[in-house]
Amino acid sequence: MSFKEFNSSLAETDSEVAVIIEHEKKRLNDGLVMIPSESMTSTAVMEATGSVLTSKYAEGYPHKRYYTGAENVDDVETLAIERAKSLFGAEHVNVQPHSGSNANLQAYNAVLRPGDKVLGLRLDQGGHLTHGHAVNLSGKLYEFHQYGVDARTQLLDYDAVLKLAREVKPKLIVSGATAYPRTIDFQAFHEIAQEVGAYSMADIAHIAGLIAGGAHPSPLPFTDIVTTTTHKTLCGPRSAIIMCRNEDRLAQVEGLDEKQAKAAKNLAGKIDKSVFPGSQGGPLEHVIAAKAVCFKQAATPEFKEFAHQIVKNSRALADELLAGGLTLVTGGTDNHLLLIDLTPFGVGKGFEVSEALARAGIYTNRNTVPFDQSTPFKPSGVRLGTPVLTQRGMKEGEMAAVGKWICAIARQPSDEALVERTRGGVAELCGRFPLYA
Ligand SMILES: *Cc1c(COP(=O)(O)O)cnc(C)c1O
Repeated sequence: MSFKEFNSSLAETDSEVAVIIEHEKKRLNDGLVMIPSESMTSTAVMEATGSVLTSKYAEGYPHKRYYTGAENVDDVETLAIERAKSLFGAEHVNVQPHSGSNANLQAYNAVLRPGDKVLGLRLDQGGHLTHGHAVNLSGKLYEFHQYGVDARTQLLDYDAVLKLAREVKPKLIVSGATAYPRTIDFQAFHEIAQEVGAYSMADIAHIAGLIAGGAHPSPLPFTDIVTTTTHKTLCGPRSAIIMCRNEDRLAQVEGLDEKQAKAAKNLAGKIDKSVFPGSQGGPLEHVIAAKAVCFKQAATPEFKEFAHQIVKNSRALADELLAGGLTLVTGGTDNHLLLIDLTPFGVGKGFEVSEALARAGIYTNRNTVPFDQSTPFKPSGVRLGTPVLTQRGMKEGEMAAVGKWICAIARQPSDEALVERTRGGVAELCGRFPLYA
């Protein structure tokens, strides 16, 4: 088969996949995506992701490749790095990690040896699997000790983190969360790390877009290592980056010669080595190009306004849910997400309520609440957020309407007539705020 025959469009080549993609476009347009880890990426980002850059092998880094013909991917990777540095104020950026989970493992591998002690937030209180859960490689390779939230306020308790850090003497302290509705004090985490002689690492996967837009305080430039996905509030392609300080604050250089000492002090070099050749092969240069596009979009004044509107919408939604008698973990929100605690309606109600909401066209996800009395598959909470609704142009007024629907379904998840009526309202609202053409 010649390339001319091989190079046909998706519609001509594979109607099965083409039809599934059309179905997904329709689902996105006709429903309210309120999963806080999701956002709709731009056509510009998708064009870069779908470009010829996908065909290039480029192991190594710009101008230090193992393959010839890399001049164009060198340009695009350099552009992505420079834009990320400027967007977040980072000293060094590696744009090659394929995903947030990879980025975290690569960051650990750069500064830890198997068995080293680390602190991370418990999964069932808002942390991520890669922050040391037993089923994850992070929890198997390293000795993670987990901190949680305060039982009464459900807020991070920095005194408790400090106390645990003094007891455990970890080599690394990980901050950041996947289900925490409040501002995280990254400065406090960094100071605790300094006090106990540990590296600080912030995983800003969920809130990177808020940070880029100035709607949440940044862990940069002081935190040693900062990882983030690029597809959550940052609205870019499904991928990740690692940012870090150039210098390794904790480097031990006694007894080393000049060259070895220089390497020991080079944190940026350790991060790069850990990504390639440490754990990945050829970088996804088409996705790196899409990340460059995403960083350009995230640096605009419009993005800044969007980031602040996400939080305003989140607060408006929280007010409506509280007015409707629902319970929110921590009593509200400072960011893009909310966690409804359904325990007052019965333990383990998260499954039933999130499924009923989905039947009405409102997509959320079931989630544990702190000190949940049920299981992770049938937890007592529902996690939801406002990034995609904000992208569609919805404001506080629409949040009030959506909040009323959620309150009604949370109380009566098996009332199919209610679900059906809500579905109609959702379709009408979505029609007024279209997504993709
Ligand atoms: C989503 C998330 C990740 C993992 O990202 P993937 O791209 O799904 O691997 C890591 N850390 C946090 C805090 C997250 O929210």
